[in-house]
Amino acid sequence: MNRTGTSVALVSAALLWAGVAPLAAWQRAADDSATAAARRFLDAAEKDLAIRSVGLNRAGWISENFITHDTELLAAAAQAEVALALKRLVDQARRFDGVALPAALRRRLLLLKLQLAAPAPPDSVDALEMTLLGAGLDADYGRARYCAPTPRGAASCRNLDDLEHVLAQSRNPDSLLDAWRGWHATAVPTRDRYARFVALANAGARAAGFADAGAMWRAGYDMPPDSFVAVVDRLWQEVRPLYLQLHAYVRQRLVARYGAALVPPRGMLPVHLLGNLWGQDWSTIADVVVPAAPAQGGGGPDLTAVLKQRQVSAVEMLRMGERFYTSLGFDSLPATFWERSLFVRPRDRDVVCHASAWYIDDPTDLRVKMCIEPTADAFRTIHHELGHDFYFRSYKNQPFLYQAGANDGFHEAIGDAIALSVTPRYLQTIGLFDSEPPATGDTLELLRQALDHAAFLPFGITIDKWRWEVFAGKVAPDQYTKRWWELRGSYGGVMPPVARGPTDFDPGAKYHVAGNVPYMRYFLAQVLEFQFYRALCRAAGSSGPLYRCSYYGSKAAGRRLAAMLELGASRPWPEALATLTGQREMDATALLDYFQPLMVWLERQNRGAPVGW
Ligand SMILES: [Zn+2]
Repeated sequence: MNRTGTSVALVSAALLWAGVAPLAAWQRAADDSATAAARRFLDAAEKDLAIRSVGLNRAGWISENFITHDTELLAAAAQAEVALALKRLVDQARRFDGVALPAALRRRLLLLKLQLAAPAPPDSVDALEMTLLGAGLDADYGRARYCAPTPRGAASCRNLDDLEHVLAQSRNPDSLLDAWRGWHATAVPTRDRYARFVALANAGARAAGFADAGAMWRAGYDMPPDSFVAVVDRLWQEVRPLYLQLHAYVRQRLVARYGAALVPPRGMLPVHLLGNLWGQDWSTIADVVVPAAPAQGGGGPDLTAVLKQRQVSAVEMLRMGERFYTSLGFDSLPATFWERSLFVRPRDRDVVCHASAWYIDDPTDLRVKMCIEPTADAFRTIHHELGHDFYFRSYKNQPFLYQAGANDGFHEAIGDAIALSVTPRYLQTIGLFDSEPPATGDTLELLRQALDHAAFLPFGITIDKWRWEVFAGKVAPDQYTKRWWELRGSYGGVMPPVARGPTDFDPGAKYHVAGNVPYMRYFLAQVLEFQFYRALCRAAGSSGPLYRCSYYGSKAAGRRLAAMLELGASRPWPEALATLTGQREMDATALLDYFQPLMVWLERQNRGAPVGW
């Protein structure tokens, strides 16, 4: 499944620790006029930001749909202007530092500080430089090509899509290595600019009162930043046993396919053999990993094959996604969604194809920007992106600073919790499958899903573990790639296929690093997705194995979901979570419940074989 970026208003979709330390006597004595002044200030700031966000979103939309020299500059100028306005507001908000205020106002003031993933540095020349750097890194990623010389001397160039196809489809180790190495080479020239960007983002974060930009990102979770690190580590420990079993099993299959010379039987997995440029989603190597279905039953129809064979169009796929949400009781998408979105890759121009969901002119101008192909992966991505759009619309009546996910993992998890409900029975219900596959194929289907969901977990945690260290100044640019692979090795047990050097910049070959999009949200989302899904299944009255549940058509589930979505970021995330699930903690047991039959099966397959690396 694609972990997709989301462009939303100004919002980094963050919440923050509201702070519950007891007030000093002098603070308690502070008069009501400070409260009134803070409220007036915040109301005015929100009005200002709401207006500015529309212009910013339009500039962003155009620049990502038409990547040119000029649109890039216009988008950068719009970002610079908003960053400057935000900086002014954050500076003005300082007058409320240390003043006793009701918790809700304190919280809005902190939300104001967390609006940008990279706040503007104090110096205006630096601020302009940072926005230009940010826009340039983003656009360079969209334009990147790997040009390999051909025997005749002319270069043949391939873009990200082309190279992703190679990783997904080729089983020739030389072709895989060539594509992997070629893509990662495209990031090398961006390393020094990225390092400069980090320095400028840190200057902005420090001016806003944080130790560095990473500490600022960690402040967005309604708890002290260190407690958030502990939550992430706890969730990882909960899911790690499943990952270890999956890793061990996949290694056996890769050894069988490529030989022990290429895949060390007790060691790490060479990342170029995992079906994906970043090794984050192994579902494309299901043909190598998943054993053949038993002759009796098993298997079941392949969604990609059905979509291709029936020539289902991008719009039809989107309509199916929309229908899932309307079946829960949500209103259908506005006509402008269909008029203004981008659904397929244009033939004649460069666009940022990385899927994203947008709302431009609050409250009704919802869009997606995707290059849809008839595949099961795109089908799920559609449900994911629409989750963002339905969330946007659900909280549209909240004040501007509360127009965000309860925490940023929530935003990513909604659509994926819907996508889990895209079960074979559901696909049969909507007429894509002729029959529901028998239960005998369930374990292998769970294995297929784990190649996406469980394989992703260590990757999801690693990007920001790396970035937190980079922002904290613990990793020099010539150590960026070395440290990257240390973390990827220790969490995920994967390694680069060839030696890496100090000039390489492998993290920059991932969109969210080039585009400066925080990533821990995707790890949280992976946990929350199953937690939401389990709660929605229960609301729908589903019994039986969790993985077979679909709550399509359940108005009861829809009401629970809508109640949480409408809150936006107006309450600390544990309250929002409890609205849907009854739980106040993020909890990986739903993910483990879902994959329980697979865990038993994997342990049996791995009996006597090495586990770990
Ligand atoms: Zn997303």
